[in-house]
Amino acid sequence: MTKDGAVRVCVLGPSGRMGRAVIDAAAGRSDVKISAAVDRPDAPGLGQTVAGQVVVGSDLRAGLAAAAVYVDFTSVAATVSAAQLARELGTPAVIGTTGLSAADEAVLAELARVAPIVVASNFSLGVNLLAGLVRKAAQALGPTWDVEIVETHHRAKRDAPSGTALTLAQAAAAGHGVAYDAVKRHGRDGDVGARPQGEIGVHAVRGGDVVGEHTVSLFGAGERLELSHRATSRTIFAAGALRATAWVVGKPPGRYDMLDVLGLR
Ligand code: NAD
Repeated sequence: MTKDGAVRVCVLGPSGRMGRAVIDAAAGRSDVKISAAVDRPDAPGLGQTVAGQVVVGSDLRAGLAAAAVYVDFTSVAATVSAAQLARELGTPAVIGTTGLSAADEAVLAELARVAPIVVASNFSLGVNLLAGLVRKAAQALGPTWDVEIVETHHRAKRDAPSGTALTLAQAAAAGHGVAYDAVKRHGRDGDVGARPQGEIGVHAVRGGDVVGEHTVSLFGAGERLELSHRATSRTIFAAGALRATAWVVGKPPGRYDMLDVLGLR
């Protein structure tokens, strides 16, 4: 905490799209204060001053030591190594990096044994509400209504399908009462045959500077329901992440998500 009660925050990847958005959003809040910014040693923004007087460095240990919590929107490799060090130091975390494998998730689980962490594939209020609506719709309509999800993102996005699309697909599977891995279909190509009942399709479109769009379609006989979310600014993710940042400090060790932060569970 600073003297005025704000939570001290270390931002990872301050030169990145989301890192910048988090720093900008923090400027408008009194409950958090950026106290450190850490990027990779060859990042373009190294040595620059951000958030008033914080110089971007590459020493993660020093960055975590200067903060009560860190915010991580970087790459899978960076997120895994940061979580390993944070476990050693017991530092709480807010993690938004997507594309993590089961082995990567196990590293986060180790951190969650010693510190509270919030992990979300999407920090926006709208998408978290959408996941609840998708679950309810899938449950009410049942697997005779075909569920297909289309996501669109900017051309630089590395992972596909998006973490948000997977969260929405898992919500639909939960509504159907099945494990997602048993019914998933990521894209179609060639002679794939007729669509099996209960399959959940996810399709990724990439282009331009699209911040993030997700449409969940539920196809019945003679009708179709579409539930869509369009992010037009990264501000929504940054604002949600900072809300999580202020919330997570002081919580018992464990893994939390945005439903916990928003009190929607
Ligand atoms: P980006 O490529 O613009 O930025 C990544 C940043 O991480 C860069 O500054 C890079 O230098 C930095 N980085 C790489 N290795 C590092 C290391 N070892 N230590 C510190 N910093 C390191 O990417 P982006 O568009 O900002 O997205 C980052 C991640 O966040 C992606 O996985 C993306 O899918 C995810 N994302 C999540 C949400 C959400 O709400 N959860 C929203 C948007 C993006």
